[in-house]
Amino acid sequence: MYRFFMANNLTFSIIKPDAVSRHITGKINSMIENAGFSIIAQKLIRITKEQAQKFYDVHQDKPFYEDLCNYISSGAVVVQVLKKENAVADYRKLMGATNPANAEEGTIRKKYAISIDQNSVHGSDAEDTAEREISFFFSKTELVGC
Ligand code: UDP
Ligand code: MG
Repeated sequence: MYRFFMANNLTFSIIKPDAVSRHITGKINSMIENAGFSIIAQKLIRITKEQAQKFYDVHQDKPFYEDLCNYISSGAVVVQVLKKENAVADYRKLMGATNPANAEEGTIRKKYAISIDQNSVHGSDAEDTAEREISFFFSKTELVGC
């Protein structure tokens, strides 16, 4: 893991397989950009099961861990780094609640999520998590936007 200056300006996002397979990456990116975020790095990848298990290791004792790792590695995803003042908190707000049934109007999950497991997007939950998650998928030289 590498460290950033001004980490509170960056967060890590995943557009999950349910959204990529429904061809709504562009619509979600529009919501992200309309909310004032800059997408400073982005790539379409397939996460391996092993990567998923590491990435989600904080959830390893949860009943949904195995299904979550299978799901996130089941198809293409878009991983991205978003920049904005208060990026972590503001992206959590834009995503909406984990369960789309509880998500507020105007949020990505309210609009696009199918269910609590196929909930279209991931966003870091704290600044130190954002650093860990960004460095999990991106090298420093890949953060090319501004
Ligand atoms: N998840 C699930 N069932 C649950 C809770 C979570 O399938 O009961 C999945 C869901 O995809 C969620 C991810 O596990 O986005 C990580 O859970 P977390 O509590 O961190 O929610 P998030 O931070 O994504 O809102
Ligand atoms: Mg989380």
